[in-house]
Amino acid sequence: MKVVVLVGGVGGARFLEGLKALLGGREHEITAVVNTGDDVWMHGLRITPDLDSCMYTLGGGSDVGRGWGRAGETWTVKEELAAYGAEPSWFGLGDRDIATHLVRTRMLRAGYPLSEVVEALCHRWQPGVRLLPMSDDRVETHVVVDLDGESKAIHFQEWWVRYRAEPKAKSFVSVGAETAKPAPGVEEALLTADAVLIAPSNPVVSVGTILNVPGVRAALRKTEAGVVGLSPIVGGKPLRGMADACLEAIGVETSAEAVGRHYGSRRTTGTGILDGWLVHTGDRSDVPGVAVRAVPLLMSDVDATAAMARAALELAGVGLD
Ligand code: GDP
Ligand code: CA
Repeated sequence: MKVVVLVGGVGGARFLEGLKALLGGREHEITAVVNTGDDVWMHGLRITPDLDSCMYTLGGGSDVGRGWGRAGETWTVKEELAAYGAEPSWFGLGDRDIATHLVRTRMLRAGYPLSEVVEALCHRWQPGVRLLPMSDDRVETHVVVDLDGESKAIHFQEWWVRYRAEPKAKSFVSVGAETAKPAPGVEEALLTADAVLIAPSNPVVSVGTILNVPGVRAALRKTEAGVVGLSPIVGGKPLRGMADACLEAIGVETSAEAVGRHYGSRRTTGTGILDGWLVHTGDRSDVPGVAVRAVPLLMSDVDATAAMARAALELAGVGLD
C-alpha cells in the first residue's frame, strides 16, 4: 500500500510516527510531503524546521520533552553568538542541530536541490518514511502585522518564535509560491497513492502553505486515492501551539467543523480536497459532501496515534483487514 501524507512539523511528525508503527513493513510505502514555508536563513545557515522535526522524530533523535530539536542538545554556539550581540538571538539554535544546518547549507551552496539534501541527511537518520519537501523552490510564509504603529510583513518564524504570535496576524503570504513547483516526486506520489492523508497539522501555515504550491491542490483533486484529513482542532482548541491565531487571520473559526469546511469536499465543490474528515470523539462536524467520523484524536502515545491512522485509512477505503 502506498500512503501519502501532507504534514507540518511537530503534529505531522507525531502522526507519521503512528502511521509508521501501524504500517511498518516492506510492502507498505509512506511518503510525507512536508511544509517548507517555515524555512529561513539565520546566521548564514538554511534552516528547515518542519523537515527536521519529521526527520529527527522518525529517526529517534528528537527531544521528546521539548517537542522540537535534538535530544541531548547543548547551546554553546547560541551563547557565543549572544556574546557578540549577533542577532537574531531569539531563535533556538542548538549545537547538534547546527551540524545538520551546516551540512544542508553546504550542499545547497554546492547546487543540490533541497529534496536531494533531505535524502542525504536521511541516510543518517533512516526515518523509514520518504520525506519530500513540498518544493525545492524557496517559498516562505510571511505574516502581515502591526508593529510600532506600522503595518509590516515579518517572517513566520519571527512572528511565531520571537513574538509568540502576539501581534494579531492580518494575513499570511507564501512568498515565492506563485512561481514554485512541487518537488520532484510530489505530484507523482499523490497521483499514484492508494490513500492520501492530511495530518492534524496547522491548517493555515503547514497544510495551507503546501496547498499554495501550484499543482498540489490539482493533484489532490485528481488522484484516485481517497483523501482523508484529521482535525488538529479538538474541543474547539488547537492542541499545543497557536493555530487559532492563524485561523482567525484567514477568517476560519477554531472548530473541527470550520476547518473541515475550509478544506472542503472534492466531490461537491470546485476546489475542495477531502473525501473524509476525522474529528475527535464528541466533536460534532457537518461538512457537506464529506464523510465525517468521530474517533479519539489525541496523539498521547504511538499506539493511540496508530489507531488514528488506522481509522483514517479505513475512511479512505483501504482498511488493513
Ligand atoms: P508545527 O509545524 O510544529 O507547528 O506542527 P504541525 O503544523 O504539523 O502541527 C501543529 C498542529 O498539531 C497544531 O495545530 C495542533 O492542534 C495539532 N496537534 C498537536 N497535537 C495533537 C494531537 O494530539 N491531536 C490532534 N488532533 N492534533 C494535534
Ligand atoms: Ca511548522
